[in-house]
Amino acid sequence: MTAAARGTIGAMNQPVRDLSRPTTPCSAVQARMAEETAARAATAGPAAALSEGAGAEADLRAELADLVDSLAPELVALSHDLHTHPEVGHAEHHAVAAVAELLRTHGIDSEAGVYGMDTALRAEIGAAEDAPAHPGVPTMAILAEYDALPGVGHGCGHNVMCANSVGAFLALAELQRRRPGALPGRVILQTTPAEESDTAKEILAQRGMLDGVDAAIQTHAYAHDLADQTWLGVRRMSAVYTGIPSHASSQPFMGRNALDAATLALTGLGLLRQQILPMDRVHAVVDDGGRSPT
Ligand SMILES: [Zn+2]
Repeated sequence: MTAAARGTIGAMNQPVRDLSRPTTPCSAVQARMAEETAARAATAGPAAALSEGAGAEADLRAELADLVDSLAPELVALSHDLHTHPEVGHAEHHAVAAVAELLRTHGIDSEAGVYGMDTALRAEIGAAEDAPAHPGVPTMAILAEYDALPGVGHGCGHNVMCANSVGAFLALAELQRRRPGALPGRVILQTTPAEESDTAKEILAQRGMLDGVDAAIQTHAYAHDLADQTWLGVRRMSAVYTGIPSHASSQPFMGRNALDAATLALTGLGLLRQQILPMDRVHAVVDDGGRSPT
């Protein structure tokens, strides 16, 4: 954009708008979702919460909540540690070591590099049945992701979410230690690399991560409370446009502009959005558009 186009404009009796700043996006949709969630929460009543007869005994739940509170300093430290050491997908080596070390200080062994993925870590507590499929033993997997975005760091809070999952696992482990038999099954902590950049969970699942697992849970940060969420799968692809270099002012006709091709593709994606399903998302970025316009 030229300097002239970037300047401020104004007209008589019109507020001057600073074009150097983007306009603030409308937040009406978020506001409506928050209102809907608040309305559901207000009408949900006690029936929506766990009744006293469901799940674990009340005193067990209270003890678990106390254990989570007592773990808080270590969990916050883990979260801050990951935040200050952001690592992109499949490079989460600091994170793997940090999680393994925290587990170790609580007397829990873990294994890194499971299912052929260097930064996937797994630990297990609870009934250690020998049978491979653990028949009759309920098994829950707590998933944890800890990758960050290139150039951004921890944009959507995977550092917090990892600490949440590790904290839940450690609290259950401590409960089991204090009250042998309190845990009526197995609990697996499984870290899942590369959520931001890849489909590592899918690959790990194909390789057996969820075999014998009855339920898998994790938390994910969001901008506000949600009553429900439409979950999206993901497919990623990259395209390389190859051009022919030429001098842009003296012999432009001798060149083929790869950036122009990428621009057309982006424009096409934008037009395609009108016809795709409402919950489909498609987005792209040009990560290398050349170094010089000449
Ligand atoms: Zn995320």
